[in-house]
Amino acid sequence: MPPGRLYRVQGVVLKSAQMGEGDLLVTLLTRDGSKLRAMAWGARKLTSRKMGHLEPLTLVDLALSKTRGIDGITQAQSLETFAVLKSSLEATAKAFYLSELVDGFALEGGPNPPMYDLFLGALRAVQDSADDSAVVLRFQLNLLQVNGFMPELYRCVDCRRRILPGDHRFSVSLGGALCSGCAPPGAAIAPLSLNAMKALRHFHRNPAPDAPRLRIPPALYEEIKSLLDGAVRYWLDRDIRSAKFMEHVDGRKAKTLHPNPSTQGV
Ligand SMILES: [Zn+2]
Repeated sequence: MPPGRLYRVQGVVLKSAQMGEGDLLVTLLTRDGSKLRAMAWGARKLTSRKMGHLEPLTLVDLALSKTRGIDGITQAQSLETFAVLKSSLEATAKAFYLSELVDGFALEGGPNPPMYDLFLGALRAVQDSADDSAVVLRFQLNLLQVNGFMPELYRCVDCRRRILPGDHRFSVSLGGALCSGCAPPGAAIAPLSLNAMKALRHFHRNPAPDAPRLRIPPALYEEIKSLLDGAVRYWLDRDIRSAKFMEHVDGRKAKTLHPNPSTQGV
């Protein structure tokens, strides 16, 4: 597309950053599932209403002007603001975490429509049921899948025999489940409980973010979360900054729901 040509895109704002003299660098996941960075030149001069269209976690319709460098945003219109989601600290923390993962996996100029559908669906699911802890786990597993990093859950990654119930462990670096008879040298291998295996297979077979709820007790949640966090970190090769914020908010909520017995009645 030659410089100066105008074009439109729809997408979800993943993040925006103030740059220099009041410009705003906006990163989006567009409807084709690719990442796009665009500049709102002089964004501080825009009215606050227009600025609101470029807030993170907003589905927007943008008009852009092609340049030799980074494309410029000439018009912005929000299509879905996720106002209910943003009114909840817990839901916002989860949504920022999902956004950071998507920002990590998405490629500029690399379409991945299933990733867009997965992300938008997960944002809506977080908005509709912020207390459903399975939404983030389901999203992590299926984000790995749509990016070609799905862990093997049905056959041993070493000997390729079918994994039998109760006879399984897990290795992030080897790419999934291992039977108890295999221990390739040098591989980090973690235990994997039967219930964790069942939950992972359930997420794999029911990828829709609004799939029926799965009740996950806290200990099982921690086991699966630790495993999927490890897989996400391994493939992105970095820590996820917003994970700490999400865990802090989750922890605060857990303390509210289950106060330390030693402090009760004080
Ligand atoms: Zn094996």
